Amino acid sequence: MLPIYNFDPNFKIPCKDCSKCTGLCWQKIAIPDYFRIYNEYVEDNTRLEELQKEYTEIARTHGKASDCIMCRGCDGVCEGHLPTTYLRWVARVFR
Ligand code: SF4
Ligand code: SF4
Repeated sequence: MLPIYNFDPNFKIPCKDCSKCTGLCWQKIAIPDYFRIYNEYVEDNTRLEELQKEYTEIARTHGKASDCIMCRGCDGVCEGHLPTTYLRWVARVFR
């Protein structure tokens, strides 16, 4: 896994759920869904088991956050370049 710089366990990923990146990832990573799940975990980390189950269910038909190879194929549509910055954070928590 790639190194994570400036990791902050209390920081919520500022995804607007605009869906611009949806369908652009050739790895079929469910980017906004994973960011929402991650942010729910940041809000209440006692929900890890429940949120991991939701993540695993989505990952049955999508790539996992850890499948991101930083190809930057989705980078142009996301103003904050969130996938290439924060999918690594998601992959640190959810397997
Ligand atoms: S383009 Fe960026 S802000 Fe929009 S849903 Fe994707 S990650 Fe979130
Ligand atoms: S940078 Fe990651 S999330 Fe974006 S298209 Fe490439 S593999 Fe998919």
